[in-house]
Amino acid sequence: MKEAIARFIRDARRVMVITHVSPDGDAIGSLLGLGRALRWLGKEYTLACADPVPRRFTYLPGSEAIVTGPEPVLSGSTEASTVSSAEPLAEVPAEVGEYDLVISLDCGDLERMGAAYDESLAGLSLINVDHHVTNTHFGTINWIDTRAASTAEMVLDLAESLRVPLDSDMALCLLNGIVTDTRGFRIPNTPLRTMRAVLKLMEAGAQLPEVTDHVFNRRPFSDICLWAKALNGIQLDGRIIWSQITRTMRQECAFSEDGAAGLVSFLGTADEADVAIVFIEKDDGGIRVEMRSVPGVDVSAVALNLGGGGHPQAAGCTLDGNLNEAQEKVLTTVKEAIKGQVRRL
Ligand code: 5GP
Ligand code: MN
Repeated sequence: MKEAIARFIRDARRVMVITHVSPDGDAIGSLLGLGRALRWLGKEYTLACADPVPRRFTYLPGSEAIVTGPEPVLSGSTEASTVSSAEPLAEVPAEVGEYDLVISLDCGDLERMGAAYDESLAGLSLINVDHHVTNTHFGTINWIDTRAASTAEMVLDLAESLRVPLDSDMALCLLNGIVTDTRGFRIPNTPLRTMRAVLKLMEAGAQLPEVTDHVFNRRPFSDICLWAKALNGIQLDGRIIWSQITRTMRQECAFSEDGAAGLVSFLGTADEADVAIVFIEKDDGGIRVEMRSVPGVDVSAVALNLGGGGHPQAAGCTLDGNLNEAQEKVLTTVKEAIKGQVRRL
């Protein structure tokens, strides 16, 4: 599979690489990591995401070149590039129609690419590289490795197949992906092969403290303000702990980004709960639902049933309607789904 994908990439001239809406550290890290590989191979490419790069990931080299939305902007060079961390990415405008390959990273389904997957791309070969158990195999080629802890480590494998040397910038971006998706190596059973990938990335110059500092040790005041408000409304319903974030709370805290600033993972640390849920009232209507669970209890199937997806212990979806409607629907579905499931830790 990996070899077939490497062949597609070698044969392509202009590549559109897309990661998912509301990008997390694995989305941005794997996107930038693959971008550096394409650059080294001398390809022209666009790195695209329908939503802006969250502020805590803007420290990653090249993040400013990620295109938000469907506008076509090609980065890279037609000449074979050399690996250099200091060199700025050249931007060469081009028509969307000039792409000959699309690669989707960390997306469980086609809709996860959002507006970045412009309909003009629909006729092109689409390579789907992902590690979600709920992946719908929407690509022309689907490389879905559910045993990988992150898409970033799959990109590392792919770069090795392409014989692209690992430079410290690429290593940093990929390490950011692994660290975020393993929640700092705290998910149960982080595979040994993930740790081997970490070792390679660190040997290539990526600094683990730099990643953990940006990802876990620093946060803007607005995040803490939002947590304070949401924690005020926590509920423990059986073994489900949940809370909500309203538009007003976000305004009061001047919280401009999507999501809940990692609150759901914090709620998931409650001894008394097997499932943690945060309901987020979105600006454009609809309710975003973030879920976490303890090992032995699966939230990915619930998310999939509700039109979303994810991993057994971390999943999400977006629902129509208001907060009350979403809460009732999700809580009922989760209660039914976790009946008979037993926590393993
Ligand atoms: P989070 O709760 O951090 O937004 O997402 C947890 C995991 O579930 C992530 O791996 C994310 O990619 C996946 N996920 C979240 N929302 C959706 C969704 O609406 N659809 C799909 N397919 N996956 C989702
Ligand atoms: Mn991921």
